[in-house]
Amino acid sequence: ASIGSSQREPKKDVLLGGLLVPGFDEHSCASRYQAAYYHKDMARRPSPHLIKRLREQEALQRRCGPGTEPYARASQRLKSGQTDAAADEIDGCHYLVLISYRGLGNRMLAMASAFLYALLTDRVLLVDRGYGDTLTSLFCEPFPNATWALPHDFPLENFKDLGEDAPESYGNVAVNRSGSVTGLRFVYLHLDHAASQANRLVYCDDHRQFLHRLQWAVLRTDQYMAPGLFFNLAYRDELDRLFPSKDSVFHILSRYLLHPTNDIWGMVTRYYDSYLRNADERVGIQIRVFENRDKPFQQVLDQILACTSQEHLLPAVVGAAGGVSPPAFKAGAAGGGGGGGARSVAVLVTGLSSWYADSIREMYWKSATVTGEAVRVHQPSHEEHQHYFHGQHDMKALAEIYLLSLTDKIVASGWSTFGYAGYGLAGHTPYLLFRPMNYSEPAPNPPCTRAMSMEPCSHGAPGFECTRKEINRNIDTGVLLPHVRPCEDMSWGLKLT
Ligand code: GDP
Repeated sequence: ASIGSSQREPKKDVLLGGLLVPGFDEHSCASRYQAAYYHKDMARRPSPHLIKRLREQEALQRRCGPGTEPYARASQRLKSGQTDAAADEIDGCHYLVLISYRGLGNRMLAMASAFLYALLTDRVLLVDRGYGDTLTSLFCEPFPNATWALPHDFPLENFKDLGEDAPESYGNVAVNRSGSVTGLRFVYLHLDHAASQANRLVYCDDHRQFLHRLQWAVLRTDQYMAPGLFFNLAYRDELDRLFPSKDSVFHILSRYLLHPTNDIWGMVTRYYDSYLRNADERVGIQIRVFENRDKPFQQVLDQILACTSQEHLLPAVVGAAGGVSPPAFKAGAAGGGGGGGARSVAVLVTGLSSWYADSIREMYWKSATVTGEAVRVHQPSHEEHQHYFHGQHDMKALAEIYLLSLTDKIVASGWSTFGYAGYGLAGHTPYLLFRPMNYSEPAPNPPCTRAMSMEPCSHGAPGFECTRKEINRNIDTGVLLPHVRPCEDMSWGLKLT
């Protein structure tokens, strides 16, 4: 997957405007500095304040992270249950441990937004390695001379089993203990997409008053926390300075944080170079069907084609509804392609089933396009069924999320964090397919919509105002802030715009 230096464009900004630091060993993680040669330029530039805070966070990870004396002391304190240390006794080191669970897209949204939360609360981010050490086989270390992987000897046993009812859960502490953390070794932040409103009170915590008193926080989330953090007055000014444009928080953080390891980068670049690079245009179609059935759904195919037609993403074929008579042969008339042939469109389909891509490919084989363009349809894998923390399966999933991020336009399935991660990394505002609630019924009409922004949708945002904290009265929080809106694909979800 190496790009010869002769092929390199002379002045590529591989450090992405200061987002990345130089000095990492290039060979141990080729994607970190090579990605700029594959991606389009970033949709937004990182702000100077974000860059400054990233460097400070990196320093914090180095000073307090695993392998340091402060980490050894903090982990000893957690183990022994010693909770009464004064702030100056704890080396100024606080920790946020992220539990890894659910699918890869979920985990990527969780990692990016947990990182933002760690940055806002001055905590060291430590990510649970997942079953089979998935973290380190999928992602490179993001911080220089530090590790974000939770050490194997992390002293809190069974922390992965923590649930909403744990005595340490924020909801319990806030509601049943009036915020008292006396005697607790750590606090558990339960921000799963289905968390109770009491647990979602974390979003309103003023860490300077309450959470900061605990050196250790354990976080469970499978979703994108960022929109909810904007409700917290304690963070709002800082968030404004970090992200003058609110529509690209995940885009910027994912490009900073989530670098695929060399094995995956090899899969990405080999596929890209073989099937996508030479096309005049690349269209990504991410297909996610939330129903376990072995047979594919005609309705889903109809919906995708209705969307690509409505949005003029793929050419119509001759003889299709609205099509015209076959075009006269014009060698090279459509231009592009470099070789004088017809303009070519490469379609990258991702999905668990191969039927959808096969059907689209066959359509373009049997019938000519009305524009004369050549449409090539590619699908890297069809795993048929979803698995969790399965080495090869997860690697393919990450390679495909990354490949989606190298396309020019993306059609993504509503509700799917896999798609959110793909278009967010890309920095494209996607075309979102509305999720059919019953796949056997006719496809939703309209089939899709152009999204408001390139941001993922948060599936578990707070349903209350932080000034009132009325957890028993769910209000529409999508009207409170100009940059936090209900999602296109999920009415109770929230997204940044
Ligand atoms: P979500 O369930 O759509 O929100 O996305 P997740 O990524 O969290 O979970 C779905 C999981 O199913 C992925 O992580 C993969 O393991 C698998 N999966 C779903 N769609 C695809 C796909 O298009 N390609 C591959 N390789 N795996 C997929």
